[in-house]
Parts: sequence; structure tokens; C-alpha cells
Amino acid sequence: MNRFGRTAARPGGRFRLLPIILFAIYGLYYYFSNQQEVPVTGRSQIVDMSREQEAALGLQSYRQILSQSQVIQSGQELDAIRSIGRRIEQAAAADDPGFDWEYSLIQSEQANAFALPGGKVAVYTGILPIAQNVDGLAVIMGHEIAHAIARHGAERMAYQKLTQLGTMAAGMSVSGMDPGQQQMVMAALGAGAKFGVLLPFSRDHESEADFIGLIYLARACFDPREAPKLWQRMGQGAGKAPPEFMSTHPSSATRVRQFEQWMPEALEIYQRSCNG
Ligand SMILES: [Zn+2]
Repeated sequence: MNRFGRTAARPGGRFRLLPIILFAIYGLYYYFSNQQEVPVTGRSQIVDMSREQEAALGLQSYRQILSQSQVIQSGQELDAIRSIGRRIEQAAAADDPGFDWEYSLIQSEQANAFALPGGKVAVYTGILPIAQNVDGLAVIMGHEIAHAIARHGAERMAYQKLTQLGTMAAGMSVSGMDPGQQQMVMAALGAGAKFGVLLPFSRDHESEADFIGLIYLARACFDPREAPKLWQRMGQGAGKAPPEFMSTHPSSATRVRQFEQWMPEALEIYQRSCNG
């Protein structure tokens, strides 16, 4: 083999910079042209879909989940969920992009609740014993409503899109390297994207939903002091396995500590708008 020889075994291989540069330019353009501001916290986020697209996506998944679930049609618990939802919705009216809010109660042992883009909220009966009272239920629903208003679903999709594009660009950049090295680089990048970008990102979303939800429920005259108590109950949970809600909503000492930091602000709102 001569010194210009092309062989797959050549150590180091060839790294192409151009795809990465193009991705970086596109990424910056994408980032700055899709800036939005999250209500209440004022954080900048990137969202690249319209509210209509977002609402259509949410509605589609919502219908699908409900069609596969045992949906409770009437009763005191459903009424409570709807009236708590309406109160929080009104408290959030200034930040509400005009979502068509819907609340469902699903018969299930899972201790879970979720909100989909566009304002579709579901609560599972399994979480009711942990919610324990109206204020506890309001903490859970405030958190979910906050996820929807802060457009966390659409933001996550924008980041996933960027991550996929970045991975493609990286794939093109290393395509001249030998297959073993390509695999190593791509695996490292994949792990970096997951643990460096997407996971911390979802933790940030959880904290943000905690904070916005707390402010909303104080404005709606639910007792914000129930929030840390609720998360403690959630942590003690079903004893053996942690509740489903926890696996996507990691509770921790940090979470309770954050509530303590935010509490003076929430209590002031609560006392001002509700006369204590
Ligand atoms: Zn959450």
C-alpha cells in the first residue's frame, strides 16, 4: 500500500468538517428564529410549530389514549377534577394561548397524570389516594397545566429534531473513518445527547412546571403549602414500586427544597388574591 492508499484500516481515517459547520450554522439560525418566551418564568425556549399544529398533535394522542382506557363518565371525582381544572385555567388565563381545555379521569391503578400539548389533561384514579384532598389534586393538576402552557412538549420535539440533525451531520463527518471508530464516535455522541441534553432538559421542565403550577394554584386560591407535602407523599408512594408519576417526574429532596424557596412568593400571591 502506498502512502496515499485508501484503506479502511488506516488509523485516524478522514474527518469531514463541512457537515458539522453547516449543521452549526443551521442550528444557530434555527435557534434564533424560533425563540419564544415561557410565561411566568420568562425563560427563552425554542418551539418551531404553530399552536394549531401542537394542539392537533395533542388531540390525536389524547383521543388515542382515551380510546384505549377506561374513562370515567360521571361522579364526584370527575366533577372535582373538572372544577379544579377550570379554576387553575382561569388563574392562568393571561398566559393561556387559547387552548381548548379538557379533563378526563381514567380508571387505573397507576398513580399517574399527564397533560398533552394543546391543553388535554388526564388524571388516573390511582393517584387520588396520594392527592388526598382538593389542594393536593390541585398541585398535580397545576403541574400538568403548567407543562401544557409552557409548551414543553413542542419544545422537546424541537430539541429532538436538532439532536437528530446533529447526529446526521456527525454521521456524515465521520463517514470516511473506519467503521469501528465511526461506531465509537456515534455511540459517544448518542450518550452525550441523552445525558447531556435531553435528560437535564426534562429535569428542567419538571422544575419549571412545579414553579409555574405553584404560582397558578396560589392564584386560584388553592393552598400552595400542600405542594411539598404532596411530593413527600408521592415519594413514600405505594411502598414497593415508586408510582408511575415518579418515574417521569423524579421527586427528591431538591424538589421539596425548591418548593421551600418558592413558598414565600406563592404565599404572598395566595394571601393577596384570596385573603388568606
Ligand atoms: Zn411533569
